[in-house]
Amino acid sequence: MAKHQFQTEANQILNLMIHSLYSNKEIFIRELVSNASDALDKLNMLVLTEDKYKDVTFAPRIDIVANKEAKTLTIKDSGIGMNEEDLMNNLGTIAKSGTKAFLENLSGDQKEDSNLIGQFGVGFYACFMVADKVEVTTKKAGEDQALLWTSAGDGEFEIENTTQEGHGTTIVMHLKDAEDEFLEVHRIDTIVKKYSNHIPFPIFMDKENFVAAVKDDDDKEIEPSRTDIVNEQINKANALWTMAKKDVTDDEYKDFYSSIAHSSEEPLAWMHNKSEGAVEYTTLFYIPSKAPMDLFRVDYQTGIKLYINRVFITDDEKELMPTYLRFLRGVIDSKDLPLNVSREILQSNPIMDKIKKNISEKSSFRAFKNV
Ligand code: ADP
Repeated sequence: MAKHQFQTEANQILNLMIHSLYSNKEIFIRELVSNASDALDKLNMLVLTEDKYKDVTFAPRIDIVANKEAKTLTIKDSGIGMNEEDLMNNLGTIAKSGTKAFLENLSGDQKEDSNLIGQFGVGFYACFMVADKVEVTTKKAGEDQALLWTSAGDGEFEIENTTQEGHGTTIVMHLKDAEDEFLEVHRIDTIVKKYSNHIPFPIFMDKENFVAAVKDDDDKEIEPSRTDIVNEQINKANALWTMAKKDVTDDEYKDFYSSIAHSSEEPLAWMHNKSEGAVEYTTLFYIPSKAPMDLFRVDYQTGIKLYINRVFITDDEKELMPTYLRFLRGVIDSKDLPLNVSREILQSNPIMDKIKKNISEKSSFRAFKNV
């Protein structure tokens, strides 16, 4: 068992989360589900493109389990998982560009700061808003050693070896006394539908299903009523951008923005476009209502996810967007790019050129809904 200290910035964010961000705690579910969805996306791509992963089973699902006796909420995925290096880098530090500048800009006023941190995109650490102990069990696809990461959010975390069947990540949150509401199936169901209804993968949860008593013709009870526990899919999992525009409501567009932009604010406007013909692609772009924190940084984080026929390829590719549109958030999906698309291909590819030209023209912004 090895103890580690959180990186200073990670610790500061964690403290802020625990002490200042009271207003919208439920978003921790959105953050963890979206991490799980990203982990499934990553594995999907590797299984399809890399020999090393060709024997790995890709059976994508996210499970949420509320245990009232143990007061734990568990979110589990069958995604890529993490090895020790990943755990150290991902759950001990904050890699986001601009974290330092962000922290320096905080005013000390809790209300103002909690708004700011919401915009910053809180990520995994959000679970410490509701939990006083978090256990992450994980095994990376294609590797043998499973690991257990534990922290009470008090400046340190521990990593030890453990066992786990199959790859993926399970996050067990030991909820604080006042956070029992997050053990209620109905409450979780509502939160998932609000923020994660249209992520591309199914989320399952046990639900109680009331079965009425069976009676004979004389109204005599043959079988008493009972409550069955059924494991049910609770989100639509239909990758919103693949739907026809006419079938998507404004609220659904806004909810999807929340899950891909990790933002609790409404988008200013969006544009959903399907291009059919010689080159087929779908784009769904959002303009955030506030400029991203790192807008004026050279190492700004991109906000566009590239999918090829619903298979996630990258969300870290500046070539996807002209630099002056770096504040846009959204999805590009095309059937016509190769799955093993490289940065060079993205730089000089007629499909990408067309998408970029199209967004640049449309970003006279008349085509954006709500403007
Ligand atoms: P972000 O998702 O914005 O990068 P987070 O703090 O939410 O920030 O997560 C940090 C990193 O931890 C992720 O980028 C990812 O690499 C890793 N991670 C988090 N949750 C999971 C998970 N369920 N499976 C695999 N990796 C994960």
